[in-house]
Amino acid sequence: MSRVVTVRRAVLLAHPAGHSLSPPMHDAAFAASGVSARYQAWDVPPRQLGAAVQRLRHADVLGANVTVPHKQAVMAHLDSLSPAATEIGAVNVVSRRGEKLHGDNSDATGFLRSLREAGVDPAGRRVALLGAGGAACAVAWSLLQANVASLWIVNRSEGRAIELRRRAARWTDGAELEASCDPADAVGADLWINATSVGMRRDGHDPDESPLDAALLSAAATAAATCERVVVAMDLVYRPRRTRLLRDAEAAGMRTIDGSGMLLHQGAVAFETWTGVAAPLQVMREALEAALRGEEMA
Ligand code: NAP
Repeated sequence: MSRVVTVRRAVLLAHPAGHSLSPPMHDAAFAASGVSARYQAWDVPPRQLGAAVQRLRHADVLGANVTVPHKQAVMAHLDSLSPAATEIGAVNVVSRRGEKLHGDNSDATGFLRSLREAGVDPAGRRVALLGAGGAACAVAWSLLQANVASLWIVNRSEGRAIELRRRAARWTDGAELEASCDPADAVGADLWINATSVGMRRDGHDPDESPLDAALLSAAATAAATCERVVVAMDLVYRPRRTRLLRDAEAAGMRTIDGSGMLLHQGAVAFETWTGVAAPLQVMREALEAALRGEEMA
């Protein structure tokens, strides 16, 4: 007698949904862990978001990832939220608990795991955070949970930097917080993080652009040389992996961390939330790296 195996689903809610690296990464993880499931990317225009979230309540759905442009709007459709998602104001992972849907933010956890995996403890560091959008908000929250000494938020639109600093003040007791539109103001930082989309290969951005001048990076490396810490530059952008910012930072003598680690770890957190099984990290890393290499060769 043949046994019927139910293939469950994890899905991505995005618009557009065509360029995601999550399907190969999660399908490899399901196969390696013996979880009978497939990952599907759903292209969901904003007006169809409510109906798409309703479909997540079906018994064959493990959960979902949520990305641009739905990370904020999805919150109104869920039954509960983690403290991180509530404070950051964005959800990028949804898990199904019976018929109830719970939202969390694995960008925050993925960012910290990636930083720590690269051997960088943010505690006590002086951080320059470039950007004030959704990713910057998750990063700011994580860094303040991890007890950085100071956080300088630098954004093209200064008003958004000031607004993020205002929100971030609720997430810390002791860290020094600043906001401006000029990266030169943060020149004493020993951890530089790009959470803008500058340098991305897609969406009309020039992949050879950097949010920081090479001269400023050299000045920052020199200024921070007086402290005993290695100066680090991290780029959340992962297309391409070696961004102009990371190449310039390396030339200035800084340690560099690319955005693929954060992508991997936010995916691993989502996998564990959906399945209750430890994420096969090496399998996921290899699938992600193969997909990124494929894109870079295309
Ligand atoms: P977002 O909410 O749209 O924010 C975009 C940010 O980039 C804003 O601060 C914006 O400044 C700034 N920006 C855009 N174009 C700029 C330009 N030409 N010059 C200067 N600043 C510019 O996007 P997001 O969701 O935060 O994502 C930001 C980046 O992080 C994206 O590249 C995304 O792929 C990456 N990301 C990576 C991971 C990962 O796992 N590695 C996870 C999440 C996000 P204004 O406020 O002035 O417009």
